[in-house]
Amino acid sequence: MTATRRHAGRVAVVTGGAAGIGQAFAERLAAEGARVAIADVGDAEQTLEMIAAAGGEALAVHCDVSSEDDVAALGAAVTERFGPADILVHNAGIYPLVEFAEMTFEQWRALMAVNLDSNFLLCREFLPAMRSRSWGRIVCLSSTAFHAGMGGMVHYVASKGGIIGFVRALAAEVGEEGVTVNALAPSLVRTQGTTADPRAFEAVAASQAIKRTQLPGDLDGALSFLVSDDAAFLTGQTLVVDGGRVRS
Ligand code: NAD
Repeated sequence: MTATRRHAGRVAVVTGGAAGIGQAFAERLAAEGARVAIADVGDAEQTLEMIAAAGGEALAVHCDVSSEDDVAALGAAVTERFGPADILVHNAGIYPLVEFAEMTFEQWRALMAVNLDSNFLLCREFLPAMRSRSWGRIVCLSSTAFHAGMGGMVHYVASKGGIIGFVRALAAEVGEEGVTVNALAPSLVRTQGTTADPRAFEAVAASQAIKRTQLPGDLDGALSFLVSDDAAFLTGQTLVVDGGRVRS
């Protein structure tokens, strides 16, 4: 358990919290006092157990973030158990490698549904209660694959760039209502989902200012800051947390 309880009294929704980066986010927010709802298509039992073992409180909801019905049901489940959400961390995403020449329109649309359309669905669901209570924090996961213009996954890079535009524009609409909207952009992170060649991890680490492979635990401090009161004047931004690979 971390020393600070800076999210005590807050209700947080973390999508994709069953594994990887989202699991680290859910654990961190719970450790700092938030009651956490994990929305995932996968089994979130391990995350629930880790949070309970650390004395935290969490709920798992089976939810496909690209489904309008699932997101509406998620909103109802969170409200019933914990009350309205104060914090939305939209982390769920997919990153299949497909060369553009091989990509089908179905593959393109399926990725956009999970990585981009979901931002609309989730914010439509959770934003109204944040606005009405004049406090809210929304963080969406982008990627430095956008900054690098990485090949082999054009649909993914387009979706992650779309998220940067999404948070900029939504931040402008809700800034006067106490709600901040930001993106967090990691580089290559070692998680269950990253099937990258071991040499890719070495090459990326070598190109960073801090020359080691990024892990989910390298991101949760930045996430905790973004959803805290300390970040009340920070909105519409993309915070790059990548060991100093992208330096702008
Ligand atoms: P991961 O594959 O390890 O975990 C993703 C989680 O999201 C899983 O629990 C999965 O079940 C869930 N998920 C997938 N599709 C879903 C859906 N339709 N609805 C609900 N849940 C769904 O992924 P990760 O590596 O932890 O990545 C998390 C986020 O960070 C993604 O948005 C990814 O694009 C972004 N990111 C990852 C890296 C990296 O190198 N791992 C780098 C930059 C950005």
